[in-house]
Amino acid sequence: MKAEPKNFPQSGASSAGVGMWYLTGILGGLKITLTHLLRNLFFKKKRITLNYPEEKYTYSPRFKGNHVLTVKKDGSLRCTACMLCATACPAECITIVAAEHDDPRVEKYPIKYEIDMLRCVFCGFCEEACPVDAIRMGPEWQTPDLADGNFIYDIKRLAYRPQLKGGVLSVVDDEERHQAGI
Ligand code: SF4
Ligand code: SF4
Repeated sequence: MKAEPKNFPQSGASSAGVGMWYLTGILGGLKITLTHLLRNLFFKKKRITLNYPEEKYTYSPRFKGNHVLTVKKDGSLRCTACMLCATACPAECITIVAAEHDDPRVEKYPIKYEIDMLRCVFCGFCEEACPVDAIRMGPEWQTPDLADGNFIYDIKRLAYRPQLKGGVLSVVDDEERHQAGI
């Protein structure tokens, strides 16, 4: 069966009508673009974007960002190297090496505690699993770096990086802990 020819606009008047339709659309688009450009130039407070990295968004303290190993009042690590966080971690990115503590009341402590941030999925399970408030996830979220090795966060970086200003104090008190037998 012979196919019917399609009805495209052929006359000069119809072509001019289609051209005007496009022109209206283009002018409408330019108006929106110019409105946003002028508003962003002259009304900075109304901007919904930030000039990153000069300007940074401040997240809530409850934001689950980079990990922090908390410290005791004397500045030593709160962690007892119980391995619960490493066991709960679905990404298997926590490595802990435990050692015996000189203080007989403290069973163990970590001589090595590392988190591979390139494998971490920021799920928060480690924080939930810890029985002594030794690991928390803080509001810091920036992790860019230049070499693979710098994404393995060690004790120095997790507990004593400059941003922590000497370390984050754990809410678990030593004496209360010893009385509770943990
Ligand atoms: S946040 Fe999740 S993936 Fe990351 S170290 Fe903790 S448990 Fe592992
Ligand atoms: S669960 Fe807490 S105390 Fe146990 S190894 Fe992890 S950070 Fe340390």
